Amino acid sequence: ALTAGIVGLPNVGKSTLFNAITQAGAEAANYPFATIDPNVGIVEVPDDRLNKLTELVKPKKTIPTAFEFTDIAGIVKGASKGEGLGNQFLSHIRQVDAICQVVRCFVDENITHVSGKVDPIDDIEIINLELILADLETVTKRIQRVEKLARQKDKEAVIEYDILAKVKQALEDEKPARAVEFSEEHQKVVKGLHLLTSKPMLYVANVSEDEVADPDGNENVQKVREYASKEGAEVIVICAKIEEEISELDHEEKEMFLDDLGITESGLDKLIKASYSLLGLATYFTAGEQEVRAWTFRKGIKAPQAAGIIHTDFERGFIRAETVSYGDLVDAGSMGQAREKGKVRLEGKDYIVKDGDVIHFRFNV
Ligand code: GDP
Repeated sequence: ALTAGIVGLPNVGKSTLFNAITQAGAEAANYPFATIDPNVGIVEVPDDRLNKLTELVKPKKTIPTAFEFTDIAGIVKGASKGEGLGNQFLSHIRQVDAICQVVRCFVDENITHVSGKVDPIDDIEIINLELILADLETVTKRIQRVEKLARQKDKEAVIEYDILAKVKQALEDEKPARAVEFSEEHQKVVKGLHLLTSKPMLYVANVSEDEVADPDGNENVQKVREYASKEGAEVIVICAKIEEEISELDHEEKEMFLDDLGITESGLDKLIKASYSLLGLATYFTAGEQEVRAWTFRKGIKAPQAAGIIHTDFERGFIRAETVSYGDLVDAGSMGQAREKGKVRLEGKDYIVKDGDVIHFRFNV
């Protein structure tokens, strides 16, 4: 499964947020194959459509799809040079698929800040620079390897050399590798480098309890938004402390609590959704009397692969995918009605699955 890593300087609220994630935790019984790793927290992906489908189909059981966050401890200035947990830290980032960078926007005299003051842009730049420096090392080493072959006019080496040179230039200009545009084919070469700054990133602005209802009153949040918009990155505002409290509540209590705070959705729920889509993930549903269930897939995959997410046998013996879009099903009011109206399509092996598809797979065993 794809995972998003939570990074940030010390004392910005990472552990508090990660606590909220593990406490809110998905019901383990539903996800028996999930990683058992203390640094991984598994949460259910909030999805209103699943509730609506449950009302419609009235199954015995409803199972949301899940998403993993990985807690990545302790980055400090100089990590790329081996400071603090240094290289260990960077190798953990290498293993995640997207980065959620927690930025301290709350001011609290009692909680020290590593740099002595709360300055979100300074903080962001410290982390981003460490990632850039680590990538610069990777790219420089790689250039040394292909340089000779490129000089001998080895075709592939020449192409790779050009790509590497472009990435290196960007990194030297303190820009992430993801900011460099490449053709789809060249993108594959870049992917093979496993660069840290190629990974998609979003910023998590951690504000204080009394600011969640109106976060833009916090000038630090404004600064983070400005910075992120230049990169085309998303900003999710949360109060990690509140998320930690909410994570101990049941569903109804949670709704009431959020109401009192004057917000409609918890910061964590927003973060889950944003991370999910940052990774190019989407959801399809299966809806039967036994069970209504949400499944995560990577956008762009075809019906047999989507079937394989449920079970490898479904993929191997794939025949057809009886598909109705969520919207059509809700409009029709029931599966039977949707069928009568001709809204249920029989899709074959080349069908590209869409977000919100409600699918019944037909397969040979
Ligand atoms: P980490 O080092 O990034 O993991 O930071 P922690 O989660 O341990 O938080 C550092 C300190 O900041 C702790 O004392 C937290 O209680 C406090 N803290 C974290 N989030 C918030 C928040 O949203 N508001 C306030 N006021 N304090 C927070």
